[in-house]
Amino acid sequence: MLLKTILNKIEKFSSFVYTKDEMKGKGTNREIIVTIEARKNSKGRCSVCKKKRPTYDTGRYPRLYSYVPLWGIEVYFSYKLRRVCCKQHGVITEYVPWARGKERYTMTYKIFLASWAKRLSWQETARVFGTSWDTVFNCIKWVVDYGLETRVLKGIATIGIDEIQVFKGHKYLTMVYQLDAGIKRLLWCGKDRTENTLRTFFTYLGERGSSEIKYICTDMWKPYMQVIRERAPQALNVLDRFHIMKKFNEAIDEIRRGESNESKEQKKKLTHSRWVLLKNEENLTEHQVEKLNELLKSKLQSIKAYLLRNDFQKFWGYILRSSAEKFLKSWCKRTRRTRIEPMKKVGKMLEKNKELILNWFTIEPRLSSGAVEAMNNKAKLTMRKAYGFRTEKHLKYALYHTMGDLPWPKTTHRFNC
Ligand SMILES: [Zn+2]
Repeated sequence: MLLKTILNKIEKFSSFVYTKDEMKGKGTNREIIVTIEARKNSKGRCSVCKKKRPTYDTGRYPRLYSYVPLWGIEVYFSYKLRRVCCKQHGVITEYVPWARGKERYTMTYKIFLASWAKRLSWQETARVFGTSWDTVFNCIKWVVDYGLETRVLKGIATIGIDEIQVFKGHKYLTMVYQLDAGIKRLLWCGKDRTENTLRTFFTYLGERGSSEIKYICTDMWKPYMQVIRERAPQALNVLDRFHIMKKFNEAIDEIRRGESNESKEQKKKLTHSRWVLLKNEENLTEHQVEKLNELLKSKLQSIKAYLLRNDFQKFWGYILRSSAEKFLKSWCKRTRRTRIEPMKKVGKMLEKNKELILNWFTIEPRLSSGAVEAMNNKAKLTMRKAYGFRTEKHLKYALYHTMGDLPWPKTTHRFNC
């Protein structure tokens, strides 16, 4: 089967024909050139208005466009561009359906590279397909821009807002996720974690979109809570489980550090105990389980705090808000009676934010407990995988690319990648 025949099946352009396919070069320098010609007597389209216009002239030399490689051999489309005479736009280069503007890459190849860049790091993608990091980025930028322009932002009922630390030092991106059943995606990300950052998001979503939001999960970051009241007053603000349990862990860590500094004996008992106390029991290694059993026999405050935290996990299992509230009250009362200051502080925090925490039991349908956390982990993984990010702009594109669940430009053939 000729290459032309395959291309006619998977990538047919009306008004253009594949006239020749040939292999040039030797050894590792081989390349396949597929010549395209305009159909006889066909008119070219103006690259601005896309209207058919009479030909002004035809380029003397063909332009080459990279296509998806075949058996490791580079493939190019070769075409002599025409210029057309447009009433509105003057003498202008014609529009071709396989590429945009002056680009040397076919759209199919751009989509192909962008798909691979979801699986591999950008660097690896560039290496495997013999191209540059910048080219890979440009392909991603193109599919992401297309996706952001064409995606639908209607009927978003549940969102989660969180900040992630980026690059080195105290730099943050505010992340806004959609957390509805069936669709979890990154909606928006913006620099810093100020009131203005979040205002920019609500402006982007528009008044109508903002008014459709029913639930917003956040941590206890005041600037966010302020803007939510201002821009989406109808939405129920929920403090999410992940951030609350984080406060427990911070308290346990503080107690453990304090105790291990008190005496040599306690220090010995508490060595290698950090993760034993912070991890969920089902995630402990065999060795850590042994350590835990040993610690449980002690009368350390760290262990008391650990048990208090484990007990609090029950809270999330309640179905009824009223039962959860009752439990919360009794837990706080018990904790007040202990002498473990950091835990008492957690109790105070819970009481102070009681309403926002109990809103968790009002969300319909119920959120999975780790919804925000899971999205954050995905974001961190994306950042780790792509260590080549030089700027915030690149990072944002990477995040939208992997987490945005964006619509892709349409193609007649989908390569398996
Ligand atoms: Zn025109």
